[in-house]
Parts: sequence; C-alpha cells; structure tokens
Amino acid sequence: KVRVRFAPSPTGPLHIGGVRTALFNYLFAKKNGGDFILRIEDTDQARYVEGAEQYIIDSLNWCNIPFDEGPGKEKDAGPYRQSERKHLYREYAEMLIASGNAYYAFDTTEELDAHRQDHEEKGKTFIYNWHNRQKLKNSLSLPVAEVKQKIESGEAYVIRFKTPEDETLQLKDEIRGEMHIETKILDDKVLFKSDGMPTYHLANIVDDHLMKITHVIRGEEWLPSLALHVLLYRAFDWTAPKFAHLPLILKPQGKGKLSKRDGDKMGFPVFPLEWKDPKSGDVSMGYREEGYFPEAVINMLALLGWNAGGGSEKEIYSLEELTKAFSFEHVSKGGSKFDPEKTKWFQHHYMQEAENEVLAADFGKLLQEKDLDFSQEYISKVIAMLKERATFLSDFWEIGSYFFTAPENYDEKAAKKVWKEDTSDIIDQVIDLLEKEEDFSVANLQEKVKGWITSEGIGFGKVMQPFRLSLVGAMQGPDVFEIAATIGKEETLSRLKKAQQ
Ligand code: GLU
Repeated sequence: KVRVRFAPSPTGPLHIGGVRTALFNYLFAKKNGGDFILRIEDTDQARYVEGAEQYIIDSLNWCNIPFDEGPGKEKDAGPYRQSERKHLYREYAEMLIASGNAYYAFDTTEELDAHRQDHEEKGKTFIYNWHNRQKLKNSLSLPVAEVKQKIESGEAYVIRFKTPEDETLQLKDEIRGEMHIETKILDDKVLFKSDGMPTYHLANIVDDHLMKITHVIRGEEWLPSLALHVLLYRAFDWTAPKFAHLPLILKPQGKGKLSKRDGDKMGFPVFPLEWKDPKSGDVSMGYREEGYFPEAVINMLALLGWNAGGGSEKEIYSLEELTKAFSFEHVSKGGSKFDPEKTKWFQHHYMQEAENEVLAADFGKLLQEKDLDFSQEYISKVIAMLKERATFLSDFWEIGSYFFTAPENYDEKAAKKVWKEDTSDIIDQVIDLLEKEEDFSVANLQEKVKGWITSEGIGFGKVMQPFRLSLVGAMQGPDVFEIAATIGKEETLSRLKKAQQ
C-alpha cells in the first residue's frame, strides 16, 4: 500500500512551497488509494517555534488536504512527533556502529574549527571523511581501550556515518531519473548528536522505515541528502522507498527561490494563513485572510511544477480532477515562477463558480459588521448582478456598497460633468414621475422613464447620467433601472431628493 508523508519541521509557518509539497504527497496518496501521513520533525529544539505545529495542521485542513495519520490522528505507526520518539533513535545509531557503518567521534567544535582554518590556509577544504578520518579523534583512529575509556568517563561524542571511500553510487529519482554520485566527495555526516538527539538524517530514515513509507516526496533542497539516505538504507539493510524531489518555486522575476520577504516586499501572501510571529509580533499575510478560496490556492499550487501532459491547456482543476490526473511523469525538473496575478485569476474563476446563496451568507456577515441588515434574498440578487466583476468577497462592498447604503458623497469630476444648470429641474420631474409608480420593476421603470424622456424631447444622457450619479455616487455599476428596481421606490426617491441638495 502506498504510504507517503509530509515531514515539516515546526520552525515557523508553512510557506506555500511547503503546502505544495504536502499537496503533491496528498495527490499521490489519494490517486493510489494510499495513506497521507503528517510527521512533525522537531528534533532541533533550538529552532522550535511555538504554534508552528498547529499552524501546519490548520493550513492543511483549510486547504482541504487533511492527513490520514499524524498528531491527533494516532494509528499504529505513531507517535508522529519525533520528540516523542526520542528513545528510538540511539539504538539505531548503535546498530550502525556495531555493523561498522558508523563510528564515535570525539573532536570538539574548537578542534574542528582549527582543522578547517588550517586547511583554508593551505587553500584546501576540510572534509570529515576518509581523507582525514585517520588523523582525527574517533573510534576508527583511536585504540579500542581509549575509546571505551572516553565513553565511560562521559566525554562528549557524536556518532558519524562512515561513508564508503570510493564508490560510484547510482541514484534514482522519480522525477529526475538516474543520477550518479561519487562517494569520495561526501562527508561523514553526524547521525547522533552529543545532546542525545538524532540529526535529521538518522531520524528521518528510521521513521520512514518504521512508518512503512513507500514514496518520499519532498523539495529539491533535499536532493543533496539523497546519497546519504540511500547509503543509510543500505547500511541498515532496509529497502529504500522511492524518491521524488519537487522543483523549486521561484521568485516572480524568476531568479532564485521564492522567500517570505518577496511577499512582504511585493504585497502578496506566501503563507496559507496569517501568521503572527510569537517573538517579534510581526504579522505576515495569509491567503485565507486576504479572501482567497482554498480551491484557488490549491489549483494555483498544483500547476507550479505540474501539468497534465499531452499539450493540455486546461488550467482549472478541482481537487478530485487533480487527484485523478496526477503523476510524477509530468512534474517538471526545472523551477517554476510564482505568479501572484495568476493566483488572482484563479480566485476570480472560483468566485464565479461559487453559489450566490453561499456568498450571500458570508457577505451578510460583513454587512452586519457595518450594522447593515439585509435579507439573504436581497444580498443574493446583488451578488448575481456584480459577480462578474468580483474577485474577493470584499469586492462586493468595494464595487456595490450603494446597494446597501446611500452614497455619502458624489464623484466630483463626474458631478461637474453631468450636473448641469437644468439638472435639478429635470430630476424634480423624474421624482414626480416615479412617485406615481407602484410597479418598480425594471421593465415598467424603463418604459415609463424612457417614454417620458422621448415625449419631453430631452437628451437621454441628460436624465440618465444624473439619475445614476444620484443612486450610485459615481458613474459606474449595472443598468440604472436595475439598481432602482433593486433598492426600491422609497430608497430611489430619497436618493434623488438628497442629490438635489
Ligand atoms: N524535516 C524536513 C523538512 O523540514 C523533511 C525533509 C524530508 O521530507 O525528508 O523539510
């Protein structure tokens, strides 16, 4: 059975690159009837950020890509936080020592720094591997008795992986295909730290094995670790999962990886939800709070690095469609440029798809915050009229507040242009005309007002433009008769009278 995991470190909010990784994991799992697991990689206590784990969970839920197993959804493979699995890892590190694949190293940070400096002065780079192992303080270079004595006396040590000296490794990635790497350039990575905690590499491999992960789908930044991970599986004599490294998400200008700062600078969110940094108190924008629908965000993210193949031009995909269509075959190798405008385009699309009644219920809440109370039916009607021009729910207020409240002021430029000497007189006559009308339907208003204009021989614009300005406060909006019919007789007359003053 396919089992994949999303394994973030709770070092801050999940940015959309992380959400895309989670999404591709989710899609692959669902496509193959598998499980999507959330594992929290919190072994680095120094980088732990309060609230980050909950943020990650809330983000996945908001995006409608919930995990099947993880914190709060315990199954057999749990616990799902590495801090709760601490007791497991030492045993595995020691297994590797016993099999000759790892060793104790006693070098202090100062000593290692000195080696580095020494090498630098000679124009060389210091690598802790077969090159230097014999000259350094570790269980491969020191007599057995001395190693034993050091450990017993409580001297600090780390456990390092013993990378093979000279081998050409063949690596396979589901997206990138085959790669070769020479082990002689790899360093002997630390697997277990002096503070008794495993490093990312050890914990990650042990957990993927114990959790029976079949496919590791993660960001390209982990590709350099692939060789070590494959070597670790071999050292443990475990079958390695398949690997897929997703392309980077690039800045809108295309150069370099998209970062949190790009969003701040250019005024678009890079986080699914708003995030308040617990230390600095700084608030970063979130797609949810900016008014985006999760469907739009997910659709946008899916196309960052994936397409349906076969020259397909289709861009609108529901989550179900994505699940059906997804495969590694059409994930690109190169990075994809992030495009904040395109996200708005998707949002506009999903706005058009949303049910008017649902939008009305949500917009009704915004109105209530402004102390405006309207029926769902009325709001739905307005929404239907304005929807085409709306991208966000708040746009209905931006472009249609006059459906809910009389204009407080009038567009000055427009007023100068359309309010002539005789306008007040004309509007007076319109008021007289409308006062007699009981039927305020669009059809009747149109017939009566247009008929009157024709019979009086006044220019059409001379009536309709000030009429619009009186109702809307600006020269915009749908058909004037539609507006009048919607806001009703009383409100129409009151606005026409108010505009006179
Ligand atoms: N904890 C790593 C991260 O923060 C996980 C990388 C992986 O998926 O192996 O991205």
